[in-house]
Amino acid sequence: MSARTPYVIKGETGDWELVMGLEVHAQVSSNSKLFSGAATAFGADPNCNVSLVDAAMPGMLPVINRFCVEQAIRTGLGLKAKINTYSRFDRKNYFYPDLPQGYQISQFAHPIVGEGEIDVDVEPAHGGDAYSFPCRIERLHLEQDAGKSIHDMDPSSTYVDLNRAGVALMEIVSMPDVRSPAEAAAYVKKLRAIVIALGTCDGDMEKGNLRADVNVSVCRPGQYEKFRETGDFSHLGTRCELKNMNSFRFIQQAIEYEARRQIEILEDGGKIDQETRLFDPVKVETRSMRSKEDAHDYRYFPDPDLLPLEFDDAYVEALAADLPELPDDKKARLMSDMGLSAYDASILVSEKAIADYFEAVAKGRDGKTAANWVINDLLGALNKAGKTIAETPVSADQLGAVLDLIAE
Ligand code: ADP
Ligand code: MG
Repeated sequence: MSARTPYVIKGETGDWELVMGLEVHAQVSSNSKLFSGAATAFGADPNCNVSLVDAAMPGMLPVINRFCVEQAIRTGLGLKAKINTYSRFDRKNYFYPDLPQGYQISQFAHPIVGEGEIDVDVEPAHGGDAYSFPCRIERLHLEQDAGKSIHDMDPSSTYVDLNRAGVALMEIVSMPDVRSPAEAAAYVKKLRAIVIALGTCDGDMEKGNLRADVNVSVCRPGQYEKFRETGDFSHLGTRCELKNMNSFRFIQQAIEYEARRQIEILEDGGKIDQETRLFDPVKVETRSMRSKEDAHDYRYFPDPDLLPLEFDDAYVEALAADLPELPDDKKARLMSDMGLSAYDASILVSEKAIADYFEAVAKGRDGKTAANWVINDLLGALNKAGKTIAETPVSADQLGAVLDLIAE
């Protein structure tokens, strides 16, 4: 794998670089909600998976779901992050018709997971060699999802579906270590591969079960290095937040557009307003949604209905002992046991379904040959046909049989 080179956008007044930090919302794989026993199943009739707690009836009390806590800890372990044996739930106050409580129960000052790091494997879209970079994780916290407002069922009314209200989310916040559109997509891909391998989120982006808010700023060359040396964010530009991105292609298009928009403003002598923006994939542009609120606008305070969340190290160790193989460990194993290149191994572990398929083909056969066939022939053909590995017309057994015939 080769070195990481800065992604530069040439402006009229000189070069610009990009800085991004991502906030990923991952829906916890769990049969019931974070603070109630209501089901989380997708596709149920509207307002059928709603308990009195989720509907925020007066006097109802939330009760923490132990399994969701375990899922968050397991995810934290997968991010090689610090697990906080003391954490706390806070109320984040805001009004929205699909949020009947009038606040979201979240974690603010004391998240369940602290700092971690993941290795991100990048295949630059604009050519160049594949490479990896470390992205620091700031925190992971647990929070409730809101319900859903439906605006397109009736011309004059909006309907509210509370099935999603109270479903557990993990918000995973990265440090601003992401430096190009391709790196941002690769970061989300890696995070997705990790949670799928752990079984803590199904990673279904089309259903919105994994979605990213991308914070984008631009700066002059050298500024980012000053930030890394000092930890002082004032070396960086003002950021805008691109909300709820759920496709790798849109993430890259939105960043590309947003960076150029900011550069144009700065080169005209203007300044960037910190705000939340929405990407329009049809027009391929971002537009302002609201000015960015600060934490104090939400008047966070500890939720008086919930005790702090406390557990001991033995509890964490027991969960750690039971963790499935992570993509990076699998990659290292494929490289050492089968002699695969870092590049081939990273493609094979990029999705659990691909890794499972490959391991079935490679079992009892030459690993390098199997890797060549899976990566170049099968994935190449699937890619051309616009199909995923799940839609392959050639099963792993069949491809294995072909390899046996070739060997004979
Ligand atoms: P908030 O909760 O208000 O969105 P945070 O401090 O939690 O603010 O930061 C949110 C995200 O923004 C983090 O992922 C962080 O890395 C990123 N971020 C912070 N400053 C910048 C910046 N100047 N440019 C790009 N991303 C940034
Ligand atoms: Mg945020």
